[in-house]
Amino acid sequence: MFVSRSQVVLHADVDAFFASVEQRDDPSLRGRPVIVGGGVVMAASYEARRFGVRSGMGGSRARRLCPQAVVVASRFGAYVEASRAVFAVFERTAPVVEAVSIEEAFLEIGALARTNGAAHAIGQRLRDEVRDEVGLPITVGVGRTKIVAKMASRAAKPDGLLVITPAQERAFLHPLAVEDLWGVGPATAKKLHARDLRTVGQVAQLGEAALKQILGKAAGRHVHALTNAIELRPVQPNRPPRSFGAQRSLGRARGAPLSPDELDDALARLADRVATRMAKAGYAGRTVVLRLRFGDYSRATRSHTLPDHTIAPEPILAAACALAAAARPAIERQGLTLVGLTVINLVDLSGGTQLELTGVQPPGRC
Ligand SMILES: [Mg+2]
Repeated sequence: MFVSRSQVVLHADVDAFFASVEQRDDPSLRGRPVIVGGGVVMAASYEARRFGVRSGMGGSRARRLCPQAVVVASRFGAYVEASRAVFAVFERTAPVVEAVSIEEAFLEIGALARTNGAAHAIGQRLRDEVRDEVGLPITVGVGRTKIVAKMASRAAKPDGLLVITPAQERAFLHPLAVEDLWGVGPATAKKLHARDLRTVGQVAQLGEAALKQILGKAAGRHVHALTNAIELRPVQPNRPPRSFGAQRSLGRARGAPLSPDELDDALARLADRVATRMAKAGYAGRTVVLRLRFGDYSRATRSHTLPDHTIAPEPILAAACALAAAARPAIERQGLTLVGLTVINLVDLSGGTQLELTGVQPPGRC
């Protein structure tokens, strides 16, 4: 039983968000494997995931795994609009909503859900309302902490609901592989594996002091809290991000200069990654910042402000390419060891802001 006045967290996550919007808007796609994004896979429907297709995967690999998949271009405007509608349902369901991304949020329902039955009913009603009003499937997990709620929704996917009561927490979390725990990255998992610590239960048995010794102070405290379902940062309204960025180390110190093709390719991938992150978080940006590190470790930062805000990779890439072209003499002289792309000057699209967004041009290269 959930205890009165304690936190009860509901984690709500749209299933295969971009792909589900495409299936909603085009009935001929329903029940079929759908891949969103012609280059890197931005989203894959559950029918495509069955063949091993995952978001972030290269498009050609995805098509090899699932040749019968329908590949559709992304429509960010439609996703932003769907996200607004989904969050409107979240906001009226719970007094405190913490967005994790454009399609995923924690809801604090402690004041409403003092019994297991009430928690279950709120989760089911949320699923029904999003399905009826927005036409999208969501999965809901409920628990005493964010980690329990998140892992519960992950276990219930797709189109499911799972309530983990405080009494069930240990039995639910402890058998999980530690690398599957939300918030445990590959580097942390590797350090734990090196000590033969494989499951959440094994890690939970170590004291906080021992974990700090293995992982360092901050990571040790974090993992101790995760594995013991201790809430370090309760559900809270979001602080808006100030930038979205990605970088690539080119691992070629002082070597031959990067060929123009290689640099173009790196920039195209970075623009894709940054635009995908912005779209997922529901932000558009206007100023593109290119950061370069040369073979002699000197650095240069250049920026360009677009005429309008954008959520598409093409205008970001075009600006980055123009900035890189201006730096070409230095690149050719000294070689390049790192290229970073950041977009700043952001606006939150979930707040109902109507913008003249810079249009999507044909997929570009430099
Ligand atoms: Mg999702």
